[in-house]
Amino acid sequence: MTTPSLLVFGAHPDDIEFGCGGIIARETKAGRAVHFVICSRGEAGTHGTPKQRVAEAKKAAAILGATIEFIELDGDAHLEIRSAHALKIAAIIRRLRPGIVLAPTLEHNQHPDHWRLGQLVRDATRLARYGGLRELKKFPSHKITHLFFYAVTPDAEPAGAQPVLIDISPLEIVKTWTAAMEAHASQMKTSNYLEFQLARAKVAGMRALCSSAISQ
Ligand SMILES: [Zn+2]
Repeated sequence: MTTPSLLVFGAHPDDIEFGCGGIIARETKAGRAVHFVICSRGEAGTHGTPKQRVAEAKKAAAILGATIEFIELDGDAHLEIRSAHALKIAAIIRRLRPGIVLAPTLEHNQHPDHWRLGQLVRDATRLARYGGLRELKKFPSHKITHLFFYAVTPDAEPAGAQPVLIDISPLEIVKTWTAAMEAHASQMKTSNYLEFQLARAKVAGMRALCSSAISQ
């Protein structure tokens, strides 16, 4: 596999697309390799079977031009913070050797899997650097350049923190992002998440004085 510039972690099959899909579209359009690691199959969701959700996530990743893998931790809605999980994630970071890592924010007011995964990834980026960990001996230690957090929903945006806004206003990027969200057809049944995320990006963009943006 190509060394990704950007390694992105999602607790559920649709988190990355809805939380920061526009940024992914922008990165891959710019020729940078992006890899997704999804830490459940969405089996606790109200709509869609795990099989459907995995298929939707694969389709969405292909639309965005990203590669994707699924890992097993504790399962959807059961994620716990354990050193074994952080080590497992650190091993992925060492194997793929990304520059930038993206994870869900650490805000507690959101799906508990999201912030717990954010903490596990934060810990893992540190463990990936430590030379003496016997569980990680298979690959040499690796220091990433940046860790950024994305908010799947506005509730997950840290209060008082200045967001990093990325301009995703080119129509081509918005179209690709929209198509990636639409690929999660099973998640469109209750409320219009897609319109919600587009509107959220618009507001962030108006604040930043460009036509569309998303925070990460
Ligand atoms: Zn989620």
